[in-house]
This record gives sequence, structure tokens and C-alpha cells, in this order.
Amino acid sequence: MSQLQHEIAKRRTFGIISHPDAGKTTITEKLLLLGNAIQLAGTVKGKKTGRMATSDWMQMEQDRGISITTSVMQFPYKERMVNLLDTPGHEDFSEDTYRTLTAVDSVLMVIDGAKGVEDRTIKLMDVCRLRDTPIFTFINKMDREVRDHIEVLDEIETVLNIQCAPITWPIGMGKAFQGVYNLYKDTVHIFTPGQNSVVPDDIQIQGLDSAEARQQLGDDVVDELLEEIELVRGASHEFDLDAYLRGEMTPVFFGTALANFGIREMLDYFVDWAPAPIARQTNEREVAPTEDKFSGFIFKIQANMDPKHRDRIAFMRVCSGAYTRGMKMRHTRMGKDIKIADAVTFLAGDRSNVEEAISGDIIGLHNHGTIQIGDTFTQGEELQFTGIPHFAPELFKRVRLKDPLKMKQLQKGLQQLSEEGATQLFMPLNNNDLILGAVGVLQFDVVQQRLRDEYKVECIYEPINVNTARWVECDDERMLEDFKRKGAENLAIDGGGYLTYIAPSRVNLSLTQERWPDIRFRDTREH
Ligand code: GDP
Repeated sequence: MSQLQHEIAKRRTFGIISHPDAGKTTITEKLLLLGNAIQLAGTVKGKKTGRMATSDWMQMEQDRGISITTSVMQFPYKERMVNLLDTPGHEDFSEDTYRTLTAVDSVLMVIDGAKGVEDRTIKLMDVCRLRDTPIFTFINKMDREVRDHIEVLDEIETVLNIQCAPITWPIGMGKAFQGVYNLYKDTVHIFTPGQNSVVPDDIQIQGLDSAEARQQLGDDVVDELLEEIELVRGASHEFDLDAYLRGEMTPVFFGTALANFGIREMLDYFVDWAPAPIARQTNEREVAPTEDKFSGFIFKIQANMDPKHRDRIAFMRVCSGAYTRGMKMRHTRMGKDIKIADAVTFLAGDRSNVEEAISGDIIGLHNHGTIQIGDTFTQGEELQFTGIPHFAPELFKRVRLKDPLKMKQLQKGLQQLSEEGATQLFMPLNNNDLILGAVGVLQFDVVQQRLRDEYKVECIYEPINVNTARWVECDDERMLEDFKRKGAENLAIDGGGYLTYIAPSRVNLSLTQERWPDIRFRDTREH
């Protein structure tokens, strides 16, 4: 194996999916602790946005001298190099959250043990399913009175349609939580509440039905657990690595992120089982991560990360080869070669240049408006990576100008902002409305503010009766024309020029689908 291949095989690039408040931020912090990325784990976030305050990061950065960022966190663990991509979850939930999932090789799903499967998790799982992404599961908050675990597994299996293979199992819960039991190694891991910044020692006992375990846990607890484990084995699936890698089965771990317990037991397996960078599909051929020549795609564009720099950063997932500073890349959509001397990671607000990044890593390119979501970069080959879609928005507002003379600026601003991918623009066929769509509510405020700052346009929002959007496709030209005529009042052109059905309600959408069975109503659109 070459050095490059060896390094690529070490990469584990993943994201966390969860419903807000399940514990994603807390787990992120503990993972960084375990990776020795931070030792002084204060509280991870400033506000309730799921984001770390930059100042915290800067402090951590200075203390540790490693690269931490809110968007990409890289840390070594055991023999591996882990890339954790942030999936914004609270008010900052947006289409970027979905698209980030197209840039990872696997996912960790965090479930609140008291709540089970919640809405946001269902939606995010749908996105993972587009690529059969392998899923690890962590069931959190065992230090609380949680729901029956078998019931929660059952819910995951039926609602999310994935087989569960518990690897660890909790011993008690709430005040009586005593640790986890490893079903495969027959080891008992004793719970000692970790403090914020401390990784507790791993106190292990070999054998659940052992004198030592009985002494530690008590005969009643052991007997009850032995019985429960029988039941669990009967009611769940045996772990199968291939089924996991196909996205059909998820290994399940239990613990409490707050007390930092059970995370290490999971991470140890994660770095072992989770896939190294996988091959990626393009319009021409599959690109293997170990190919010598560089390639990558843009999955997110973020503006104004640093108020001192007014540029935007385009996040690129490296899919093959290596980036080295100063190399020439081909921007295939533009058909142009460009020299990239200053790709960045985001060292806690203080940007630093990357010397090298390889398959599985993420780099940031300075973007002055020429780079769009989904763009492919190569070392010359004319390729276009596929599977980086737009997702149908779920929230819509009509945009109105305060000063009607600024229509041109407004249109330009909305168009450009929608090219960044966090919002989408729709222009109805039979009126002059401008409709903004997003999957997260904060995006509307962001657009309003950026229109003011960058385009000098004041806009206001009005409610509009649109519930969801679907991109319309049909092989039969005449039928499509007919549909356009008859359905014009609910049709629009999106920012990319594609025909879109904007449905006033779900019922309306399904009726329309029934009426036009030969027309495809898609909830994603490729670039
Ligand atoms: P996120 O919204 O998914 O990022 O969730 P957070 O990590 O912010 O956690 C939400 C709340 O649950 C916070 O108040 C955490 O302190 C708390 N929390 C997280 N993990 C645990 C846990 O294992 N046990 C308990 N009791 N609380 C937890």
C-alpha cells in the first residue's frame, strides 16, 4: 500500500443526525475530548444554537494547537483520523444540514432514550437513505428515567426501517444506572459519572455472570439483566458488518453523553467498523478514493464567517488524490483551470492554510461568486459528481420590496443567495411574486440581513399559501405542455430555471399526482 492509500484508509468522515436536544452537541464535545482535541471542555456552546462560541474555540485552539472548527472537526483517535462534519440542528437547521450528509461516508444517529424516534431524525434518515449511508446509533440519557429500551429499538426498526443490533446494553437507568454490558465481549463497564472535562477510567469486569460482577452490581441486578439479555438477543438482530455497510442494519450503543459514559465504547467500534472514504459516482464513471489524481465537490457555501473578510467559503469534500498548496484544479462547470494557493481549514476563527488534504478530508476555498453548490473540481478530467441535490423546501414566504425601484437588486440578490444553496427562489409562471423557500426558519432572517448588507435592499416577508415544492419532470413534451397550461397557477420556475410545482397543501399535491400519473414530482433536484 502506498503512503497515500494508507492515509486514506485511516480516514473516517461522518456527521451526527439527531433531533434537537437529543445530545448532539454534548456528544461532539465528548468525542473531541476522547480524541484529545480538547481537554478543557468548558461548555461547548454559547447560545442555544448548537454552535460553539468562536471565543471558546479560539481559546481551545490556542490551548491545544489543533484544528477545530464549527464546520469540520478533525481529530486523531487510535490509528484513525476522524473528520466530524457539523450538521446544524437548531434554528440554524437548513438545507446545508441535508447536503452535508452527502459529503460523509457514514453517520452517527443520536436518540434521546426518553423520547425515542423524533421528527427531525426521520427526515435526516430519509436523506441518508438516498445513498444507503451506514448508520451507528447511540441511545442517550441513560442517567434519566427513559423508555423501555426494547420498545425504542422496535420503534427505530419500524419507523426508520433499519435493523437494530445492540452491541452494548444499559444496566439500569436514571439514579440506578450502573453501566453498560457488551453483548459480544461479555464485559461489564462500570459507570462512574464523568465530569465535564474528564474522561472517566474504563472499569471493566469480564463476565456478567461472574463473582466480581455480582459483587459489584448485586445478585438481583445480574439475574435480572441475564434474563433481559436473553430477551434482547431473541428480539434483535446479530450484528453483521456487511449489512451495516449496506445501510440495512445499525449497531446500537447506550450511555449518557452528559456524564461521558458509553461514548468511548461506541467510538472504539466506530473507528473500526465505519467505512473509510468510499467511491463516488460522477456523470461519467465512479471515482475511487485511492486514485492519484485529485477530485472533489462543493457541498456547502458559507458567507461571512469572519466579519473582517467579506468573502464566502466553499466547502469541498475531497474524493480522490490529494490537495497540495498551490496546485492547479479544473473547475469543470466553468471549464477553467485555477490555481488554489490558499485553501483553508477553520482554525477556531483564525484561518490557516492547509498544506495537504486527502480523500475524505474537507477543505475550504475562497469563493468570490463563481463557485456553486455541487461544483466539481478535478485535475483536468471533465467530470461532474452526482448525488448532491437540492431538497424541497418546507417553509415559504413571499418577498416584498420596501422600495419598489430596487427590483433589479432584489432579484440579483435573491438569485445569488439561492446559488449558495441555503434558500431557494421560486418565480410563479402566472404572476410576478418572488417566493423564497427554505427548510430552516433562520434562513429567512439571514437572507433579509444579507440583502440589506450586501445588496442594499430592504425587504419584508409576507405569508404565502405554499406548503411544499416538487420538481416536475415528464418525458412526454405534449403532456408537460398540457400540465403547464392546466396547472399554471401552482407552477413556478426555480432559481436554476427548473419547473416546480408549488403545492398549497399535501392533499393538493397527492391529488395532482393522482391526476397526472405520468408526470414525476421529485422532492430533490440534482445540480
Ligand atoms: P443537541 O441539541 O442535540 O445538540 O443537544 P445538547 O447536547 O445541547 O443537549 C441538550 C440538553 O440535554 C442539554 O441540556 C444537555 O446538558 C442535556 N443532555 C445531553 N446529554 C445528556 C445525558 O446524557 N443526560 C442528561 N440528563 N442530559 C443530557
